[in-house]
Amino acid sequence: MYHLSDVKKYLRCPRLFQLDATLPRTPFQPFIRRDEAITDLAVRMFGLTDYFCGERGDDPALAIAAMETNDWLVKARFEYGGLRIKVPFLHRTEAGWDLYFLFAGLYPHADDMQFYCGNVWVLERLGITLDHIRIIHLNADYVREEELDPARLFIISETFYNDRGRPSKNIADLIAGKMTDFAPLLQEMDASSSLPPEAPVRTSKCASRQKCRCYDLCFPAEKEEAPDSILNLIASQHRYDMQQEGRTRLRDADPERLEGFSQQYAQIMADRSGGVFTDRLALQTVLDRYRYPIAFLDFEWERYAIPPYTGMRPYDVLLFEYSLHILHEDGTVTKRSFLSIHDDRRALAESLLHDLPETGTVVAYNAFGAEAIRLRELGQQFPDLKPCLDQVISRLADMQMPFVNGLVYDTRMKGSWSLKSIMAIMDDPGYAALDIQRGMDAVYQWRLLDREETAKAEEIRDELIAYCSMDTYAMVIVYQWLMGLTGKQISIKML
Ligand code: SF4
Repeated sequence: MYHLSDVKKYLRCPRLFQLDATLPRTPFQPFIRRDEAITDLAVRMFGLTDYFCGERGDDPALAIAAMETNDWLVKARFEYGGLRIKVPFLHRTEAGWDLYFLFAGLYPHADDMQFYCGNVWVLERLGITLDHIRIIHLNADYVREEELDPARLFIISETFYNDRGRPSKNIADLIAGKMTDFAPLLQEMDASSSLPPEAPVRTSKCASRQKCRCYDLCFPAEKEEAPDSILNLIASQHRYDMQQEGRTRLRDADPERLEGFSQQYAQIMADRSGGVFTDRLALQTVLDRYRYPIAFLDFEWERYAIPPYTGMRPYDVLLFEYSLHILHEDGTVTKRSFLSIHDDRRALAESLLHDLPETGTVVAYNAFGAEAIRLRELGQQFPDLKPCLDQVISRLADMQMPFVNGLVYDTRMKGSWSLKSIMAIMDDPGYAALDIQRGMDAVYQWRLLDREETAKAEEIRDELIAYCSMDTYAMVIVYQWLMGLTGKQISIKML
């Protein structure tokens, strides 16, 4: 018996399908927080009190029998030809049954048609007549008041959406147009599952969108590649071909097959110049714009699918922490931080405005993809603070910019310009000395505090502050390094 997730794996790569069941399961930590059971909220939206509710492991005959006596089926399990599905909502109509898919996002796209077609294929093969096919999704415009209102939280749509969030194709029409017979595919999967795993063959599916979970198993040698390996060439479609041809180093890259990104140029020049490339004049121009006192700022936040607090929309974020390292003109560095549990956005915003110097540059890493957005959101949530928050935005500079624009590259960065990759090449213990190692780990730890699910609250608080502070400390160290590359040595004294 297979699920549609197995079909998806098989279609991505038969080897993935074969290996997946043998790999250890790591506990799933969602990137987006979904504390509220979304199906229960949709049940409340429909106002259902009398309905059949399926459960994991149900005999599929149960749902078929329930159709005799119930007008609504929720999470019902059906099976046909060895394919098992869970149907979010079925509702009896005069012409048959309305099928409702449930999408825990804002704008469902027609990008997983195998899933939609698979559900309809099973239901139709079981002789169930479908009337309308709709999708329930979260309403981007819904703003929570004190109580959550399921009637306004959701939208029911008969269409998918395009990339601009506009209604596009009719769901039922698209499913009808894309429908295939799943029976031969399921037979193929059956045959494949009893064979030894296929040999790995690199395709675009190995690392497209999300890196395949078998990647390191399939291509173990890649982890051992030298820092100046051609495989570290950023955004290169041809790096594997070039490697096969013996162009194994960045310096060997074929100019005819480069995409022309400035980072690629920086990488190749770094390898040709002993490991480091600097466009000194351009870098100096960027750093000359920084004004003392320089405040290095970093936020940590949680993102919720269902808004947990007043004034929040679906998928809004809740800022819970900031860290500041402030570099003064005399080289001294002072530290500030703020950590809240639950909702303390206003106190965070006020504290930040108090802690930030009134003048000088505010530097963040990916400033306009993160900190500027968060500051703008705070301004929308607390209009009286907006002028001051806007003033902070106007002083922002993005420290990632010299790396993104190919002004600096060190081959030891191995194709990555995350703060951690850069800190790894500094003579500093940096992140290696911390208990929390990644931004998402910080969020998972904060969830434990927020849900009051831990007895180690003080310890976790300290670790969170240490992690967020490391990001701003790292920016000070990287700034010092960048200044050194322009020929200006600065000495720093942490207070
Ligand atoms: S890494 Fe590539 S070859 Fe290996 S299982 Fe995944 S998709 Fe298949």
